[in-house]
Amino acid sequence: MDYRHPEKIVDSLRAQGYRITKAREDIITILCNVKHYTVDELVHELKKTKDNVNVATVYNNINFLVDEGIVLEFNFNNKNTTYELNIGIHAHFVCVDCGYVTNVDVPEFDVIQQRVEQDIGCEITNTKLDMFGHCSNCLSQDSHEESSDAFRLENIGLE
Ligand SMILES: [Zn+2]
Ligand SMILES: [Zn+2]
Repeated sequence: MDYRHPEKIVDSLRAQGYRITKAREDIITILCNVKHYTVDELVHELKKTKDNVNVATVYNNINFLVDEGIVLEFNFNNKNTTYELNIGIHAHFVCVDCGYVTNVDVPEFDVIQQRVEQDIGCEITNTKLDMFGHCSNCLSQDSHEESSDAFRLENIGLE
């Protein structure tokens, strides 16, 4: 299934007998932007169009989508749990200074997985490859002074 189209995700869940509330549909629509979101960031996005956003509802819905395999859960740097639409297995670069997260294209990933599956006769269902370091932005800063303790998380999709 192409997970980038909210209508298709909603239709497929309905076909499986799930009730799709407006809140659930709104969260799916935001995640289809293919960015990495914390729950706080999702709440922030929802508040742009909604007056009352129930944080517990957001948690319930995100857990449901993770259970259904529609959304992937990441915990980079053990800082913030981050959610992203399941666009297939891909690698990440995470800046240890500012928390910037971006998807990294590693075409060899598939080859490595296939080889491991053949070597030990397993079926790989999930793989994580996270690379940590200093982003170009942080590298170009002259001083190493911390400008802020706040954990900044920027999102860039594959497209
Ligand atoms: Zn950085
Ligand atoms: Zn990602």
